[in-house]
Amino acid sequence: MTITATGRPQPRPGILEIEAYVPGKSQAKGTRIHKLSSNESPLGASPRAIEAYRATATTLERYPDGSATALRNAIAARYGLSADRIVCGAGSDELLQLLAHAYLGEGDEAVYSQYGFLVYPIAIAANGARSIVAPESNQTTDVDAMIRAVTPRTRMVFLANPNNPTGTYLPFSEVKRLHAALPAGVLLVLDAAYAEFVRNNDYEAGVALVSEHENVVMTRTFSKIFGLAALRLGWLYGPAHVVDVLNRIRGPFNVSSGAIAAGVAAMEDQAFVERAIAHNSEWLPWLAAEIGRLGIAVTPSVGNFLLLNFPSGKPAAAADAFLQERGIIARRMDAYGLPGALRLTVGDAEANRDVVAALKDFMS
Ligand SMILES: *Cc1c(COP(=O)(O)O)cnc(C)c1O
Repeated sequence: MTITATGRPQPRPGILEIEAYVPGKSQAKGTRIHKLSSNESPLGASPRAIEAYRATATTLERYPDGSATALRNAIAARYGLSADRIVCGAGSDELLQLLAHAYLGEGDEAVYSQYGFLVYPIAIAANGARSIVAPESNQTTDVDAMIRAVTPRTRMVFLANPNNPTGTYLPFSEVKRLHAALPAGVLLVLDAAYAEFVRNNDYEAGVALVSEHENVVMTRTFSKIFGLAALRLGWLYGPAHVVDVLNRIRGPFNVSSGAIAAGVAAMEDQAFVERAIAHNSEWLPWLAAEIGRLGIAVTPSVGNFLLLNFPSGKPAAAADAFLQERGIIARRMDAYGLPGALRLTVGDAEANRDVVAALKDFMS
């Protein structure tokens, strides 16, 4: 063993090249603020989940159930899965990080698409591996480009479906085509954070692919449609051998009692989820049509958010500043290589109307 006494402790190679993830802003001017920067739910959380969370306050001295059994059972019952193939995490972020930690190292490569979720390059670089970015066409994942990006060094492929920030998705036939082209030793990660919002018949989150193969996992979150982002709660469905690996390396109590209790109640409150779906199905197309009419190119989205591509002469940065003056917080997309775009979450009725009115004034 060599002991280096000089200098100061150094992180592993690659870590200092990581651009830290910048969350959506939460400050703007005015009294009525519409925070539309982080794809949070305009409906809040299920009242039953809030009540279940509150009830855990009387036993805060106790460690949570380290295997989140009640929550895995509730998820399994709701989606018809086997509870022992589920791992819960502190947000799906933690699960994505754990996967990268377990399956990537120096000399390895991991593939994601051009406008893929920015947590992937962070997780990849944090483990010393190299990101290979597959170009997109029409702000949509290009399966052929993803397949071309695979080399003998590839260990993982990340696919957000639908993708954030574009809102576009791949039909299940395309996901299967991607999987079929991957070597058996490459792990395909299907990040289905927005699955519940998708109404299209040709979409599937990926359960069948996970069930049938040894190299596919699906991650899901309570942060979006369930409105529990503050609790940090996500889950993964995977083959037994991957579940075993994650259970070896995760923190023994990685999910808190409050999150477990709220998650169980949220899973059981299907009526609340239906209301959230109905709200999104009403307002997403309305926003897309109204904003499109203003001369802003709206990327077709199946999520709870829209990517707005501003025309030259109407910079996205100026639109962002203009919206902020009206108390509307959008998300700048510079970090995604989309400096001409803003991402906007579908808000409540008032927020959506205010957004359209503000953008109308900005564009005229
Ligand atoms: C929001 C989001 C997640 C969820 O992250 P959590 O850590 O569960 O809050 C995962 N993937 C994508 C693409 C997202 O947009």
